[in-house]
Amino acid sequence: MSVKNIAIIGAGWSGLQISKVLIDCGFNVSIFEELCDVGGTWNPSNAYYDLWLHTPMYRCQFYDYEDFLNRNPLKKLRASDVFEYCKNYSKFTSLYSCAKFNTKITKVSYNSKTNKCILSAFDKQNSINTDYTFDFVINTQFNIPRMPSFKGIENFKGNLYHSNDIKEYRFDEITKRKDKVVLLGGSKSGTDIAYTFAKRNYNISWVLRSMYWFMCFDKTCFNSNTGKKPSLFYRMLYLFGTLFMINEFFTKIILFIWMITGYIKCPGKLHLNFRKFHLGYLDDDQLSIIAHQTNQIYSEIECLLEKQILLKNGQTIDCDTLICATGCDIIADEIELYKDGERINYKDIKYLYQYSVISEIPILCFTGLANLTFGPVNGYYRAAWILKFIEKNLSSKELYDISVKQSISSELYPFNKGNAMFDSSGFLLLTVKRRVRIMLTDFCDLKEFFGYVYNVIVKFDTAPLKSVKKYIDSKIKPEDPNILNEKFK
Ligand SMILES: Cc1cc2nc3c(=O)[nH]c(=O)nc-3n(C[C@H](O)[C@H](O)[C@H](O)COP(=O)(O)OP(=O)(O)OC[C@H]3O[C@@H](n4cnc5c(N)ncnc54)[C@H](O)[C@@H]3O)c2cc1C
Repeated sequence: MSVKNIAIIGAGWSGLQISKVLIDCGFNVSIFEELCDVGGTWNPSNAYYDLWLHTPMYRCQFYDYEDFLNRNPLKKLRASDVFEYCKNYSKFTSLYSCAKFNTKITKVSYNSKTNKCILSAFDKQNSINTDYTFDFVINTQFNIPRMPSFKGIENFKGNLYHSNDIKEYRFDEITKRKDKVVLLGGSKSGTDIAYTFAKRNYNISWVLRSMYWFMCFDKTCFNSNTGKKPSLFYRMLYLFGTLFMINEFFTKIILFIWMITGYIKCPGKLHLNFRKFHLGYLDDDQLSIIAHQTNQIYSEIECLLEKQILLKNGQTIDCDTLICATGCDIIADEIELYKDGERINYKDIKYLYQYSVISEIPILCFTGLANLTFGPVNGYYRAAWILKFIEKNLSSKELYDISVKQSISSELYPFNKGNAMFDSSGFLLLTVKRRVRIMLTDFCDLKEFFGYVYNVIVKFDTAPLKSVKKYIDSKIKPEDPNILNEKFK
């Protein structure tokens, strides 16, 4: 296939990194972003108040831009710093010049005769629809807030928010009014919001089914109080744990070892449900405040009343404001897909080639479903994967046959299952690893992969896999006028 013009949907940090690599390789790249700026998850319109990067910055850096805002790369950063970092990168690389903001892609229509896609773009500011034609489309959609449907919602007279809606000004409004707040959900965003209220001695009712086990940031990455790196013991514990989570049985054993060594912690009612493990990192201060200063109620919402909430355990709680920390879906806000005029229903899609491409539209790649890791690091590897995929030039039939053969029964119907990254289960690492294996077979051997994991976990270094970097470097076209190397001043 002859590919020149590529569309990237989403200017989150993975979309930015993918765009940069593809531009360097000589493609014409257009980025479409429905928000008014870059940053995705870390953009102020998505980030909730007091959102921090859970992982240290070094694990999320753009490969060709090591400016960590002059901070220790082992530290966590605030969402606002990550947003600044994304903006600086976009200026430094001139990526702003190929991005259309406030532009939401609503439809992708594939024409199998011309082998091109038409993107329908809605300009939110001017309410205008425009169609654009591309040789290849990359959809980086990742986090779309998920709201549960509640019985009795029509009677509820209080405020109802998703955790993403809790911006600083809204937090101030709630606390100034002295609202009776109920927080729903116990995963990472739930613990972040509970921590924000508890830190300010504001008492809320926190309804959750079960507390999660979380990684201890100070034991994994960096102790912000002492300024010390974790001991080699803990780093090795993490390394071996990560490498040996090869099946459900081993995953349980490793999580159990992590529990008894205090490497993962549950800041609430203890349990041995290994599926209630979240690959999020809480530091000692967060763990202590969440464990000792929050009012945790282990139940579920039965229905909403006028200014109260009835729980399944029969308890009723007063509520002026209900905050749902109920996570995000990958494609809840679906972009309509068409092939030769016929609508493709996401729910009917059974097979995805390497978790990325549906055989019906061989020139549309989903990057959010397969992650080597997060953000720019994911973007860099995905870019290499996409370059190779374009080169392979597989037909719809070939894609279908391979994906049927490769598919793993429990992971059928990927669009029905939602985002593996947010299933918050102890088996998350396992599913990620399967994806990693598939993605990396094209590039490196097991030894190199283990070396990479060792570097990230023990040496705190995310230099890209040599074979991936070599491959990307071999595709870069320095003579191409599209190469954007002007340093941002
Ligand atoms: C609360 C929260 C905390 C997290 N914490 C961490 C962390 O600490 N460390 C970490 O590594 N990861 C974390 N993650 C995961 C995080 O989402 C990823 O690391 C990363 O931000 C994903 O980047 P992305 O570019 O793939 O997707 P996103 O950041 O989601 O970017 C996708 C972009 O696509 C745009 N878009 C979507 N649909 C359309 C459309 N139809 N048309 C145009 N544009 C569209 C969106 O507006 C968005 O800007 C967290 C996620 C959440 C929700």
